[in-house]
Amino acid sequence: MKPLRVAIFGAGPAGIYAGNILASSYENVTIDLFDSLPAPYGLIRYGVAPDHPRIKGIVNSLHEMLDSGKIRFFGNVEFGRDLTLEDIQRHYHAVIFATGAIKDATLSIPGVELDGSFGAADFVSWYDGHPDVPRSWSLTAENVAVLGNGNVALDVARVLTKQAKDMLTTDIPANVYEGLKDSRVTDVHVFGRRGPADIKFTPIELRELGEVEDVEIVLYPEDFPEGWFNEDAEGVTNQHRVMARVLQSWLERDSAPVKRRLHLHFWHQPKEILGEGGKVTGMRFERKGEVRDYMVEALYRAIGYWGSELHDVPYDSSKGVIRNLDGRVVDEKENQISGLYATGWIKRGPVGLIGHTKSDAMETIANLVADVETLQDPAEPKLEQVLALLQSRGVTYTDWAGWLKLNDHELGLGSKFVGPVSRERVKVVDRSEQVDIARAESF
Ligand code: NAP
Repeated sequence: MKPLRVAIFGAGPAGIYAGNILASSYENVTIDLFDSLPAPYGLIRYGVAPDHPRIKGIVNSLHEMLDSGKIRFFGNVEFGRDLTLEDIQRHYHAVIFATGAIKDATLSIPGVELDGSFGAADFVSWYDGHPDVPRSWSLTAENVAVLGNGNVALDVARVLTKQAKDMLTTDIPANVYEGLKDSRVTDVHVFGRRGPADIKFTPIELRELGEVEDVEIVLYPEDFPEGWFNEDAEGVTNQHRVMARVLQSWLERDSAPVKRRLHLHFWHQPKEILGEGGKVTGMRFERKGEVRDYMVEALYRAIGYWGSELHDVPYDSSKGVIRNLDGRVVDEKENQISGLYATGWIKRGPVGLIGHTKSDAMETIANLVADVETLQDPAEPKLEQVLALLQSRGVTYTDWAGWLKLNDHELGLGSKFVGPVSRERVKVVDRSEQVDIARAESF
């Protein structure tokens, strides 16, 4: 069996699943997993809402996969800058891109550039303590609009309405707690451009919204005419049925006075973000042919993520993905580019839950393994050569032992926390602080 060296870029679930599946499908393989961030886990660390420990629990199985020693992790290494495609081709037979989709999709309406118009992905990065976004976030608005009817819109709306003290049990960094504590928000309005039968939420996440303490869910009867949900319509799944029952129960429930309200509006097509003096003052929609304005001081666009282009790698700008056929990277004429593969959201776009990346990785890996005999042997096939190159470029990379140190440090911060609740972990945000902790002594 030919010895195979594979690099993976992106240490989120997609990259780790791909590495793990590759390790069990091809015996004679060495796998080096790189990430631009000092810590592993990608979207789980920096995309999943902090109050979703159930999803964060996936980390335990990803940890086991990396801890097995079959995949070597190197963080703080940026593709295209610290290692180029040419470097990778000199050191590896193949590379798998699993860089995900971390930017906000563009919304092309007037006013999108106004102060107070935020991309949801940026807000998620802030509350998840991503090192590359500013530490402070303006939460001075009392009335806020959230555009979109997917789970990210729900995350954003829930985090905005929840009392900061209820987020303290999570791993949010100190600056995020302080920011949320001072928030002046009273009303969050979530707007879907289609009807309540067409929501892209999932049942657990929708139901959870109704359980947030001191928050009233407000629905508008105009959005729920007689027969609004047709159980037997084509494409209706059990999930839709469950969610229809949840919405119906909220329509019928009475509520006591609360501190904050979360409104769900439907059939609202975004038309313009209104502003004055460069700041958001409102949001204009079209609802069934009628223009509607809402006075809001901030707006979050949760209309989907978008994958970023990688240097020298074919990219389809109409979909925000790497050009590929079933995970094999191809050029514009659909000719395969030998040794290049893609998996996860950068392969198929930002849809689907974390578990879906497993089947995705299986397809990509099956194709890579089928191509093995065609892959060119690298000129410099040793890990030491890659690490020497990184060192010569002054790249302060982290490794698995470094992550274990950073992990222990964050758990230690959690156990030392003095306050009204106990905390399991407190995240370190700053990139150089993460790197220093990870590289302490062992380097
Ligand atoms: P999504 O599920 O694709 O939802 C995007 C929403 O934006 C849809 O309601 C879409 O409406 C709307 N939209 C798109 N373009 C728009 C426009 N120009 N104007 C107004 N609305 C527009 O995407 P997402 O919420 O970013 O989530 C991405 C994936 O991650 C999903 O699979 C999601 O389930 C998953 N996720 C899961 C969790 C969890 O807790 N389980 C949390 C976060 C994310 P249309 O339907 O009309 O296109």
